[in-house]
Amino acid sequence: MKRRKFIQNASLSTFGIAAGTSLFASKKNIFSSEEKSAQIETANFPLVIATWNVKESTAEAWRVLQDGNSALDAIEKGCMVEEANAEGQSVGIGGLPDRDGNVTLDACIMDSKGNYGAVVYLQNITHPISVARKVMEDTPHVILAGKGAEQFALSKGFKPVDLLTDASKKAWEEWKKTSQYKPIINIENHDTIGMLAIDKNGDISGGCTTSGLAYKMAGRVGDSPIIGSGLFIDNEIGGATATGLGEEVLKTVGSFLIVELMRQGKTPQQACEEAIGRIIKKNPDFKNFQVGYIALNKKGETGYYSIHDGFSVTKYHDGKNENIPSDFYEK
Ligand code: ASP
Repeated sequence: MKRRKFIQNASLSTFGIAAGTSLFASKKNIFSSEEKSAQIETANFPLVIATWNVKESTAEAWRVLQDGNSALDAIEKGCMVEEANAEGQSVGIGGLPDRDGNVTLDACIMDSKGNYGAVVYLQNITHPISVARKVMEDTPHVILAGKGAEQFALSKGFKPVDLLTDASKKAWEEWKKTSQYKPIINIENHDTIGMLAIDKNGDISGGCTTSGLAYKMAGRVGDSPIIGSGLFIDNEIGGATATGLGEEVLKTVGSFLIVELMRQGKTPQQACEEAIGRIIKKNPDFKNFQVGYIALNKKGETGYYSIHDGFSVTKYHDGKNENIPSDFYEK
């Protein structure tokens, strides 16, 4: 029975490679199958991978994993490092505000059992990832928004904090002079933190935390806290998470798409490339926005891909914590 399943998967995977290559070949012939297999990276467990250059976050997640803790614990602790970094202007405290000067945070977390929790439009709390975990573990719901999310956080002992730092306030005041809204590609080379981890038992969890697009309309919620868009985990298959223009990730349900493509036999790399291809096909304006995906499968293989140059990932495995530039579509 097991062997039959294996053969089935193997043939699906061969089909996946062929289908992936021909899809892209019709648009831009930049991915030969040799290149594709060269991009497959196998690693021993545990492993953690995150969007952007966040070595301190991955180091913390790795430390938690090395101690034999769950991928879920590693994700929460790893994301918390960046949320607490007031210098980072796209996550947690210090995040750039919306047009009205309010810092509003979105985050979600998903564990290996398929449980999910999220907060959207959360204000005055430094660690939305931890509040999302509490939503998942301590409530009958999966998403809490705005004031309700804040009240819930306070009831759980989170401390109220003014998230607008002087630097972010200054940047917002500068922005108000023109009030021109244009999503910036690779803002400060560091953005939403999406993180995927596989622990010593081979179980996968993920998290995603952000202050969203700078100077967004009040009330705007992006992809990051939405299951299937900013993050999706299926412990039988793997996980995926996103950064960049959330509206485009939402419209293509990017992270769910990547996991389903891996289920069909694609490698994490092929799946990320196809999900980016889906956005490019649907939106001719892709030259003006960035989206980046990362993926991890059950074997510990990883993949990452973006529309434009400048996206990178941080991966900690085999005792090495590395920031790696991602390949990209628009050459
Ligand atoms: N994906 C985030 C959002 O749309 C922002 C980002 O990653 O730049 O809210």
